[in-house]
Amino acid sequence: MSPPKNRTVAIVGGGLIGLSVGWWLGRLGWDVTAYEGTRDITRSAGYAAAGMLAAQLEQEPGEEHLASLLAHSQRLWPSFRDALEADSGLSLDYQAGGTLMVATDANGLGRLRHDQAYLRRLGWDPQWLMAEEARRLEPWLSPQTLGALFCPSDHHVDPRRVLQALTQVLGPRVVYHASIVQLSPTPHGVEVIQSHGAKQSFDAVILAQGAWAGNPPLVPDLPPLDPVKGQALYVRMSTPCLSHVVWGEDVYLVPRHDNRLYIGATVEPLGFDTRITAGALYHLLKQGRLVVPSILEAEVTESIVGYRPRTLNDTPVIRPSIVPNIIMAVGHHRNGVLLAPWTCEVIGELVRRGDF
Ligand SMILES: Cc1cc2nc3c(=O)[nH]c(=O)nc-3n(C[C@H](O)[C@H](O)[C@H](O)COP(=O)(O)OP(=O)(O)OC[C@H]3O[C@@H](n4cnc5c(N)ncnc54)[C@H](O)[C@@H]3O)c2cc1C
Repeated sequence: MSPPKNRTVAIVGGGLIGLSVGWWLGRLGWDVTAYEGTRDITRSAGYAAAGMLAAQLEQEPGEEHLASLLAHSQRLWPSFRDALEADSGLSLDYQAGGTLMVATDANGLGRLRHDQAYLRRLGWDPQWLMAEEARRLEPWLSPQTLGALFCPSDHHVDPRRVLQALTQVLGPRVVYHASIVQLSPTPHGVEVIQSHGAKQSFDAVILAQGAWAGNPPLVPDLPPLDPVKGQALYVRMSTPCLSHVVWGEDVYLVPRHDNRLYIGATVEPLGFDTRITAGALYHLLKQGRLVVPSILEAEVTESIVGYRPRTLNDTPVIRPSIVPNIIMAVGHHRNGVLLAPWTCEVIGELVRRGDF
């Protein structure tokens, strides 16, 4: 690997993408400073995320152009996990049980048939399971289960563990309460200016502000971005529970190692609306209990709101800005956890070539 063209890099945004890229560039020999506008990582979408690495079941009509990208990043995840776990000494709670999409009524069966045909057209081959096969694989499923699609390669990870591992590795190189309000080109790099006026020059800057990147944009060619609100909740089961991610209609359940289940998530084009609503939690629990009835016995431990950063065509933007020495890494929408390894790979390649 050739040495970096420049040595110092500022990351604007200490969320899942910013910290992943910061860690990655640090491994490539860069001197990294990551600026996070808040006091910790709890505002970030990564903190609110389920952590599904679902190249198959997150695929939606109209997003076919993303299929090979999602699959590629999914394949990168095991080595990304191994490297981050080795560097941090922490487990990411990566679980490789796979994902089940379950039907409990005739409409649901129709939806599964449709999804199976759609995924096959994209080159995937999800397995069709009869009701008894599905319940053998996942005994927590409802007795009303009529059938399921099984995607063994759709794994999951705990994104909070990922954030914890990244903050541990980066240590004091993450600066909190540091909101960046302006970037000024200099003859050899970029000056980064904080809201209280502090300035520092770097050879390069990576923009990774998630859903906040557009207000206001720090470069003129930033693509339009919408925050897409998502609400979710955690419950704690009394005994070890699911060993797979389970999808029902309009809901998914994601197990953590400590008997908690993440039940998510709404998709609401409401901007930065901070409310956690009774209607959203009711909907998630109502849909969730159809596939795993025992969730109604569980203790609710947390309710969550977060903001997915969506571009107009749902495609992340990882490319140099027209302002020299700045690279944008924004717009990961529903798949930022899945796409973190690919984002690091692309940025690693851009800096290796000095192409920014
Ligand atoms: C409810 C929900 C469920 C999700 N589930 C999944 C999933 O299962 N799988 C998956 O792959 N993805 C999932 N996602 C999407 C994923 O979380 C995001 O795509 C990803 O976290 C985006 O990362 P990011 O770093 O770009 O943004 P964020 O994680 O939001 O981080 C951006 C950070 O930048 C900071 N910031 C903003 N402006 C400034 C500034 N001017 N100066 C300094 N700091 C600034 C913010 O405070 C924030 O901490 C989910 C998202 C939500 C909301």
